[in-house]
Amino acid sequence: MSKLVIDGGNKVVTLAAPIWPHIGDEEIVAVDNALRASRTDINYLTSVRGGGPTEEFEQKLARFFGTEYALATNSGCAALHTALMAIGLEAGDEVIVSPYTWGQTVSPILQQCAIPIFADIDHNTYNLDPHSVEQQISPETKAIMVVHLYGQPADMDPIMDIARKNNLRVIEDCAHAPGATYKGRRVGTIGDIGCFSIGDGKQIVGGEGGFLLTNQGDLYDQALINTQIRRCLKQKLNNASLIERSDSLLHTYNIHPLAAVICGVQLVYLDQWNNERRQNGELLSEGLRGVPGIRPVWVAEEVEHVYHHYSPSFVPEEIEGVSREVYVEALVAEGVDIDLGYVRVPIHLWNRMQKKRYFGKGYPWKAGRRQIEYRRGDCPVAEARCNCYELDVGDPPAWRGDQTVLIRQYLDAFYKLAENIESLRYHTQKR
Ligand SMILES: *Cc1c(COP(=O)(O)O)cnc(C)c1O
Repeated sequence: MSKLVIDGGNKVVTLAAPIWPHIGDEEIVAVDNALRASRTDINYLTSVRGGGPTEEFEQKLARFFGTEYALATNSGCAALHTALMAIGLEAGDEVIVSPYTWGQTVSPILQQCAIPIFADIDHNTYNLDPHSVEQQISPETKAIMVVHLYGQPADMDPIMDIARKNNLRVIEDCAHAPGATYKGRRVGTIGDIGCFSIGDGKQIVGGEGGFLLTNQGDLYDQALINTQIRRCLKQKLNNASLIERSDSLLHTYNIHPLAAVICGVQLVYLDQWNNERRQNGELLSEGLRGVPGIRPVWVAEEVEHVYHHYSPSFVPEEIEGVSREVYVEALVAEGVDIDLGYVRVPIHLWNRMQKKRYFGKGYPWKAGRRQIEYRRGDCPVAEARCNCYELDVGDPPAWRGDQTVLIRQYLDAFYKLAENIESLRYHTQKR
């Protein structure tokens, strides 16, 4: 039995996690060409007119995802906000959303002066539980915001049924899941509008940026007139009379063309990179199946998970007397890139939600047509996951290519902990 690093032993993981995002030579050449082209064509430097590389990128996106329309934006958050404007969300309207997500799934709702209503998650997929969604519907509900968290598609069929029955719009937050599929369909093409981010550590990046997809001409028109004045004049709106409504009282949400150029190169590789991530994720899951105290990522039937994050569960019942904190500290000491979780606190319990102050004076809740309270216990599955079970390996894992050797080292570290449960109990007690 080898000694844990926290007991003075040697580190198991000797390889560094690969760096993500990675910019290849192809992106560099494309940006170089674009900057040179900008000397004679301003569309390479600004996208307000919509032509050039921005329009090319949007056409590539629409082809790749198989939608009628794609609109590039300068962030994922901007895409979500644009989507909410496009469906006509008004002050005081309610949107049902998961509390187990990144804040920016929720902030566009607040920014539209609308009210987030939190439904609980499924304990296997961590995505919205359709039964809980149904329970949260009120006469004020206008939309359901679905997140495909960590790259695993949410259960869209029952959610779309609920939306149809109740005349609600469905917006998909696909920031974690570009290319992931649900029953053979790519996420972002199932609801009314799909929103994506190409910022930070997402699967394909432009540095900053995002885009939305839709098959509905009226929603595309509304997205344009709410965010893009010059393109409304130039680009043919489906409903030409909307031009009269188009003015400069709007948000600047257009993408930088260089971000479109970079991401346009990466889009070609998205499926290949997702396959590599999936192979690496599945290899880790296979190995973790035998580790006491750990439940590997659970994948639903008929979906393709794209492993934006790898979030297994800590199962304290299997290793009684060992705390999650000590377990994670011991793994970090072995060289594993792991932490206590991605969400940590479900959003309905965040301070500003509890106090109902987003804008200073109690808005958007003051605009609501009924009293809303956010309480501990509203979303028991999400709360329990944050309190006891959540773990996050790699943030996010940069598992492109073949990472077999690194993953084997990670697994060795988990198995080393399994051999040293007594020591982990000792460290837990010492606290
Ligand atoms: C990154 C992210 C966003 C926001 O995207 P930005 O491009 O950073 O604005 C929204 N939702 C989720 C789930 C995200 O991970």
